[in-house]
Amino acid sequence: MNTSAPALNLHQVAFGYRGQAVVTDVDLVVTRGQVIAVLGPNGSGKTTLVKGLLGLAEHLSGEVEVLGAPLARLRDRTRLGYVPQRHTLNGGVRATASEIVATGLLATRPWWRPARAADHQAVHRALEIVGLADRARFDVDTLSGGQQRRVLIARALVANPEVLVMDEPTAGVDSASQVILAGVLQQLGAAGTTMLIVTHELTALRGIVDRIVEVDSGHLTFDGSPQGYAEHQRRQALLAGRVQS
Ligand code: ADP
Repeated sequence: MNTSAPALNLHQVAFGYRGQAVVTDVDLVVTRGQVIAVLGPNGSGKTTLVKGLLGLAEHLSGEVEVLGAPLARLRDRTRLGYVPQRHTLNGGVRATASEIVATGLLATRPWWRPARAADHQAVHRALEIVGLADRARFDVDTLSGGQQRRVLIARALVANPEVLVMDEPTAGVDSASQVILAGVLQQLGAAGTTMLIVTHELTALRGIVDRIVEVDSGHLTFDGSPQGYAEHQRRQALLAGRVQS
């Protein structure tokens, strides 16, 4: 295993669906420990980009390496954690918080082997990280939207992924939950977890994100620091004639 390889290395990549490209010409190198916000208008291809990295959208061209291995050859999928875009777990899910989190371990053991003490500990630890250890036995549908989102993050964390990909982790939750979620992400970032976070709420992630990638109409239109992004936005606004210089 090449541990010095970048977490993600994309060269001239296109991802899409049924042979149709949605994002194209993507060049992106993410070093380990970086925390990246993926920004851009609705429908620009942000979700397709992160799904492509997870093998959930079609890889149509270019080279993708994840943790030093070509995407198609990444055997241990648990090295990547994923929090899908989803507002809550509502809608008839009858499971406790710890049961949902435990599903994140299913890929780590053969189907016939029952959960071991270490698995239970991992579930407890993941719930502890997101501040929900005391809700382990609660049915998820009794939890708030923000708490449910944290359960999904715990599920993504339970197998100890090296890279965590999150699609709108703070969307649609109240501001108190956003603060808690931001704290969780801060802690993970400080612990060295590489994160790629699709978001509309950059303010909630201030101080956590160290790089911004903007996607527009299926292309990367910015890649740089948060300060550089503020300048980029100002320039764009000037170009659009919306701001007087
Ligand atoms: P964003 O996350 O920036 O809102 P998406 O990646 O979800 O953008 O969508 C980008 C484009 O890809 C949209 O035109 C959308 O209709 C299309 N798209 C998304 N998911 C699918 C899919 N499963 N099959 C076909 N097209 C899709």
